[in-house]
Amino acid sequence: MPAPNDSTSSASPASAESASSVNSTAEIGFSPAEIEPRWQAAWAAQPELYAAEPPACGKPKYYALEMLPYPSGKLHMGHVRNYAIGDALARHQWMRGYNVLHAMGWDAFGLTAENAALKTNTPPREWTLPNIAAMRVQMGRLGFSYDWQREIATCLPEYYRWNQWFFLKMYERGLAYRKKSKVNWCSECATVLANEQVVDGCCWRHEDVPVELRDLEQWFLRTTRYAEELHNDLDQLEGWPEKVRTMQRNWIGRSEGALVDFAVQPKEELAPRDEPIELHLTERALEDSPDTITVFTTRIDTIFGATSLQLAPEHPLVKQFAASDSTLAREVEKMLEQQKSAREKDALGTLEKLGVPTGHFARNHFTDELLPIWVENYVLLDYGTGAIMAVPAHDARDYEFAQKYNLEIKIVVLPRRTETDREESGEGKHAKPESALPYIEEDSMLINSGSFDSMGCEEAQKAMAAYAQEKGFGKPVTTYRLKDWGVSRQRYWGTPIPMLYCEKDGIVPVPESQLPVLLPEQVDITQQGGSPLGRVPAFVNTTCPKCGGAARRETDTMDTFVDSSWYFYRYADAKNNNAPFDPAAAAYWFGEQGIDQYIGGVEHAILHLIYSRFWTKMMRDLGLIKNDEPAHRLFTQGMVIKNGAKMSKSKGNVVSPDDMIARYGADATRMYALFAAPPDRDLDWQEDGVAGISRFLSKVYRFTMQHLARSIAGRGQALPATLSPTERQLMRKLHQTIRRISNDFEGRWHFNTCIAGIMELMNDLISSDSAIASGAVHPAVLYTATRNLILLLQPFAPYLSAELWSQLGETSALLRTPWPVFDEALATEDSIGIPVQINGKLRVVITVPVGTGEEQLREAALAEEKIQNAVQGKQIAKVIVVPGKMVNLVVK
Ligand SMILES: [Zn+2]
Ligand SMILES: [Zn+2]
Repeated sequence: MPAPNDSTSSASPASAESASSVNSTAEIGFSPAEIEPRWQAAWAAQPELYAAEPPACGKPKYYALEMLPYPSGKLHMGHVRNYAIGDALARHQWMRGYNVLHAMGWDAFGLTAENAALKTNTPPREWTLPNIAAMRVQMGRLGFSYDWQREIATCLPEYYRWNQWFFLKMYERGLAYRKKSKVNWCSECATVLANEQVVDGCCWRHEDVPVELRDLEQWFLRTTRYAEELHNDLDQLEGWPEKVRTMQRNWIGRSEGALVDFAVQPKEELAPRDEPIELHLTERALEDSPDTITVFTTRIDTIFGATSLQLAPEHPLVKQFAASDSTLAREVEKMLEQQKSAREKDALGTLEKLGVPTGHFARNHFTDELLPIWVENYVLLDYGTGAIMAVPAHDARDYEFAQKYNLEIKIVVLPRRTETDREESGEGKHAKPESALPYIEEDSMLINSGSFDSMGCEEAQKAMAAYAQEKGFGKPVTTYRLKDWGVSRQRYWGTPIPMLYCEKDGIVPVPESQLPVLLPEQVDITQQGGSPLGRVPAFVNTTCPKCGGAARRETDTMDTFVDSSWYFYRYADAKNNNAPFDPAAAAYWFGEQGIDQYIGGVEHAILHLIYSRFWTKMMRDLGLIKNDEPAHRLFTQGMVIKNGAKMSKSKGNVVSPDDMIARYGADATRMYALFAAPPDRDLDWQEDGVAGISRFLSKVYRFTMQHLARSIAGRGQALPATLSPTERQLMRKLHQTIRRISNDFEGRWHFNTCIAGIMELMNDLISSDSAIASGAVHPAVLYTATRNLILLLQPFAPYLSAELWSQLGETSALLRTPWPVFDEALATEDSIGIPVQINGKLRVVITVPVGTGEEQLREAALAEEKIQNAVQGKQIAKVIVVPGKMVNLVVK
């Protein structure tokens, strides 16, 4: 693997079997500090232990994946929890006989490294690579089962060259394009942000820095080409949290409606358009011809009720009007200021609605009426076309506005009346127009709408959009809120965009044979404005591959979300130097359903998870993969908090994994991360709890070691044909625990209750301690209980289970030992408590064998002393028996 300072290479070459020191001096103290490093070294010395096998192995495949971390230099507890979940799952799947792919990598480009570099005067590469090494050591200590031969680091050329390769492929297909546009700019990041990276008007990395709009030439990836598919395929992702699917649906924002042109006066009427109206609304508004206002509406059925047109202050037409109207120019300036400050306070929704008439008019082609054109502070350029038709009678916001400015209100939709209503009132088919305004129900009919009168709203929407299309002043459209992904970043620590600019040939892609375009080292990255790469002449100045003349390289780098959009495909074939990965390897590991289980934070619900879905569809269309979606199952774990708050340096409530490991060991730390809360909920870290887990592990260790010789004596022996009550109870508890944990891995993943189950089993074993010591428990029973206890612990506490496995004299690889199968008969309780009631009141609970029939149950209830006393001298009118549930006596 390309990553430097491989911590595993210096590990001692001890084999797994020799790692355990069988100490006959038998001082039974549990010491994670002694056990864990010994096993860690043994595992590091056998990389094949966690290595995915080739498809020829014949086993079913299982791809378990946790989101890769940013190499900040230190794992935090959120990481530990995320990886402990994935690790338990991967280990369980190995034991179930799967060929498991479980790999790890580093999302290593990005601003944190660049900013740290500025602070410490260390080049980002020199800051990042040691951080990776340090975190790899931490992961090793935690005993995570990663196939390190597949490790990737996105900042290394052997990885990022494929970002560049994909970029060229997308450019060839029109999926990557460059254009000047208004872009989001974060002054703190000193770079452009994608729409997905703007949260409530602020930068996703700087919650209190409002995003500015700047006009810049930028590279975009055409995510909108997949908008429909990204929307529709969400329906298939039933293994995703509903919350995440809803967030994506809202982000993609599909809505059906129509584009309609209004002709600005006094210019002459427009001839029908030759070109189809583009789908991309904002672009279209910006390129709008000065004599047309295009409006997007979901309610074209109300167009006969439009009484004004309203433009966003930034609409190009407003600029044009304002150029010859200084009063209007001042008002527009004011509105822009208001919008900006409202955006900063995240208060756009509560902005007081203000408008100014421009004095211009536009023609409604449906009615031939002239409508006044207004500028409004609540119309936003980034929604729709930046222009709306106001229909006060049938839109709440337009109604409020029309009342404020005394604009005309025309009713064109009324409730549909039923036959009965009409007969009773003796009226026509419409209700009276005094229905409460604004009237917005769509289950209604049109009036005052020319030839569309009497149509239902939905019917009219279709008919009117078709009419507009036929006449050349509109068309039906499905629009998406999703925009293309702006990927240019004016920063250093990212993938260079493989494009050149030649005076003669314009934009020229770097030929594939010249990849990778290497990121130069020793670059001055102080923020003087502009891309740092622009200040490296040796990088910028190059030769045009087309004409051989001088050319300049693109100096922006790619958004680092590009890196994480496809990293998990690289795990399938991490060392490929000829392609991002071998399609055959991807076909094996991804199949048609993608990753079998993806685990990560819900904070990636939009950004990473939309981009990687887009990337997957793009790669499928390149013929590299067959799956439509990266992962059909997604699990989002809760946060790790402390004292009710998110851990942060400023709050001083950060718990360091290293500290916990030093005090309690890795097993206790990771097991507590699984035990303290169901994995999808937030977990409030309590050190007492880790200490409690540590004591439990110590109990397991002491118990096993105390009875080691007797357990070993039971290996190979059959269980006695008849079990004593103690033996029966132990076997029952064991099989109940196996059943519980097996079911939980299949379904709800409540590892906290799994671990609680193991604790209960342990308690039962400890309460049989004296019976075991006195030889009253058959060695085969003890061996079976101990061996399975170790197997059950393996996904949660790999060190202790490895140690005890070896102490028990087992020579097979624990991780490849089949997961225990529960025996339903053994798991079944022998006896059951049945409540006995008299006249519906509980009197006593009797214990009977499971499966006791109706007649025997009646006899047992009547034989009970308390019941006999209670019914003495009374008449039993009726005995109601529900086998397995209850007995009720009706007594007079
Ligand atoms: Zn920022
Ligand atoms: Zn050229």
